[in-house]
Amino acid sequence: MRTGVSVEEARAIVLDAVSPLEAERVPAADGLGRVLAEPVVSSRTLPPADCSAMDGYAVRTADLAAAGPDAPVALSVAFEVPAGGHAGRALRPGEAARIFTGAPVPEGADSVVMQEHVEAGEGRARFRAAARRGDHVRPAGEDVRAGDRVLEPGALLGASQLGMLAALGRTQVAVRRRPRVAILSGGDELVEPDEPVDGGRIVSSNSYALAAQCREAGAEPTLLGIARDTAADLERRLRAGLHADVLVSSAGVSVGDHDHVRPVLEKLGCSLLFWGVTMKPGYPLVFGRFAGERGTLVFGLPGNPVSAMVTFELFVRPVLRKLAGFAALSRPTVAATLVERLTKAAGRTHFVRVTLARSGDTWRAMTTGNQSSGVLRSMVLANGLLEFPAEATELAAGAVVRVHVLDPEVFSA
Ligand code: AMP
Ligand code: MG
Repeated sequence: MRTGVSVEEARAIVLDAVSPLEAERVPAADGLGRVLAEPVVSSRTLPPADCSAMDGYAVRTADLAAAGPDAPVALSVAFEVPAGGHAGRALRPGEAARIFTGAPVPEGADSVVMQEHVEAGEGRARFRAAARRGDHVRPAGEDVRAGDRVLEPGALLGASQLGMLAALGRTQVAVRRRPRVAILSGGDELVEPDEPVDGGRIVSSNSYALAAQCREAGAEPTLLGIARDTAADLERRLRAGLHADVLVSSAGVSVGDHDHVRPVLEKLGCSLLFWGVTMKPGYPLVFGRFAGERGTLVFGLPGNPVSAMVTFELFVRPVLRKLAGFAALSRPTVAATLVERLTKAAGRTHFVRVTLARSGDTWRAMTTGNQSSGVLRSMVLANGLLEFPAEATELAAGAVVRVHVLDPEVFSA
């Protein structure tokens, strides 16, 4: 097992340990937010035939060549083509067909004139302008042609993709299975949110923050509850999580007398790949995997609420996204101007909780105040994590810094 790896090394190790999960077929109507596991090739042409883009009259442009404001041309309205219907016959010279939006243009017609530009009378229609070939006609295949590859594997299914699947008549679609994550908290001080907090108890808030982070990353969390600070209880509960793709525990990874996570994982047969990442918050992160191609991956996150959430963001989230088949694994980053001076010792990468605000076309980043890893408020207030590089010791006020955007809503503000 390696210790004291850099953030970049840790990221490479965890991502190297995973490949996308198998595909499953789901009703396309339930596909929102899922990742496509197959290419979608159209068996249809859309629109299936040349069709009208307007309510009006289908005409032969040759018939209207001489039409002008003072030289109206009258055509006989031979038949009508409603949306969803079709012309029984071709349009002959001297004829127009009444046509509605979406209806197929009859054979022989090569243009549609909007009804607003037509003087309609009993069985006849008068035109005071020439028509151009193709005007207001949507050609067959304008959208999709049979054989076109319209969606690629790895595409995130959103509204437009689901609309396209429906248009192609696809009611089932192959998507990546969602990763299953088992979440365990550990500590004798921990209780559930509805339990009393006397005697120095605190609520196991990590269970809930981490479960939400899992869902946000497209995974399905299950809570394994709270393990007591004994090796036996920890072992029993960790075993219950070995059915999952990923087991995420928090606390018990430091060097205290009650920190049993590492020895218990090793006893269960988990190979630990690293312990300790040169970052703050979150140094004591441990990562391991059980044997087998689909062996459970284990993240032992530090217990402090901020450390747990930040290490999840940086290492667990990209792993879950890779399992779920996403092409983009990381949060977007922006370059922001720091509004205050920051200092630290060299050696560890700091992830500083900041509030990003737009000012003109630049971003400004200000810290959320107390950066202690126990201050969950710093996460509540933050919409970004400023990366203060390992070897740097100072960031001047006005420096341009890199910020990982935690909350995509900042882009709409
Ligand atoms: P530990 O790693 O057990 O030393 O825990 C570090 C700190 O994180 C302690 O102050 C714990 O009380 C706190 N902590 C551990 N687990 C949780 C949890 N599930 N929810 C909130 N705080 C926690
Ligand atoms: Mg503890």
